Amino acid sequence: MKHPLIVQKFGGTSVGSIENIHKVAEHIIKAKDDGNQVVVVVSAMSGETNRLMDLAKQIDSVPTARELDVLLSAGEQVSMALLAIALNKQGYPARSLTGAQANIVTDHQHNDATIIDIDTSAIEALLAQDLIVIVAGFQGVNESGDITTLGRGGSDTSAVTLAGKLQADECQIFTDVDGIYTCDPRVVPDAKKIDVIDFASMEEMASKGAKVLHLPSVQYAWQNNVPLRVLSTFSSSVGSLVKGSEPLQSICGLALQRDMRCLTVASDGYLSFERQSHMLGVQIWAVMESKGRVTIVVKDEVYAKLELTLGDKIGTSKKVSLLTLVGRHLAELTELTHVLLNDQGINAMHCDINPQSLTWILPPENIDKAANILHHAYFVSAQAINYQSKLAYSG
Ligand code: ADP
Ligand code: ASP
Ligand code: MG
Repeated sequence: MKHPLIVQKFGGTSVGSIENIHKVAEHIIKAKDDGNQVVVVVSAMSGETNRLMDLAKQIDSVPTARELDVLLSAGEQVSMALLAIALNKQGYPARSLTGAQANIVTDHQHNDATIIDIDTSAIEALLAQDLIVIVAGFQGVNESGDITTLGRGGSDTSAVTLAGKLQADECQIFTDVDGIYTCDPRVVPDAKKIDVIDFASMEEMASKGAKVLHLPSVQYAWQNNVPLRVLSTFSSSVGSLVKGSEPLQSICGLALQRDMRCLTVASDGYLSFERQSHMLGVQIWAVMESKGRVTIVVKDEVYAKLELTLGDKIGTSKKVSLLTLVGRHLAELTELTHVLLNDQGINAMHCDINPQSLTWILPPENIDKAANILHHAYFVSAQAINYQSKLAYSG
């Protein structure tokens, strides 16, 4: 009889110390003792990817993309080996594999690659020998044999894609919070845990900055029916399940995106600016046009690259943060949201109205306060339930 197969992914904090690596080993051993075949995906130890990135940037503010991938992928190689050593020591034979050894093939987009295919035969051969297989998250190899990485937070995508290809019974994303909340619980202490969230809402939350799941992991799981759960390495709760396509709530949650930058570009040069940004792989998050100039929002981390190549086209630039309310038919909350923020002295710069969300551009120093104000109004206050039902009715 075939044993059930689960994929367990452990994030940076979960493998952030030897003590925590032992905790991770306990979860894996429990899954194995319960009769499962187990494939594990690990991130780098917490802080390690940032440390490596920082080293590269001390040499060049825009490091060579290929070499950056060689460097950053080293983080996961450390944690996968330490975890395998811990399991072997406990008498549970384990084998660690880099992305290339696991045959995770990606496209050629260094630093932000997409998985094209995984030939799972190497993993399956190891599982057939009753080994626990540990795969380095966040990395793959392109068809030229070069190491690639999947973008920050990409280990979730490694895990979910492996789960899909292996037809796993569940993909469990172990992290440092015990599930998906209505807002980042580190920012909003009142945030509520969501037991079951639909894929459409989770996709919107992730695309607007809720980094609890890497956006492509949500999209892959949705398209390929991968049963997906988010749970904590440090508690025994069942976590949150991502399931179904139909939103269960009119207002689902709030997502924060820090470290963004607002730039102005002259209107007449904007089309070529946009084309060149696209060629550089830079995503433009919001576009506003007025009085002969276009204001756009990009991630702060791509600003150095933009400035290097398109600096002569950029007028002013300043750091901003984005706050997004995710739900359905939210346009009618635009005015009220504005008043709620204004009453507390917060002047939101712009509101982007989308079918599944409302996004506000804010000065970075106001983002946490704004998140707490809106979360209280729409999820906690006596009127919150009225907003939910009014919007449900209008839908
Ligand atoms: P890992 O290293 O395990 O991948 P991440 O830091 O990438 O962990 O993601 C987990 C973090 O996501 C949490 O610590 C939390 O601060 C943050 N987060 C943001 N939005 C949410 C949300 N809606 N629900 C839960 N956590 C969230
Ligand atoms: N180590 C990578 C990062 O810090 C990938 C991940 O953690 O998922 O972004
Ligand atoms: Mg993550």
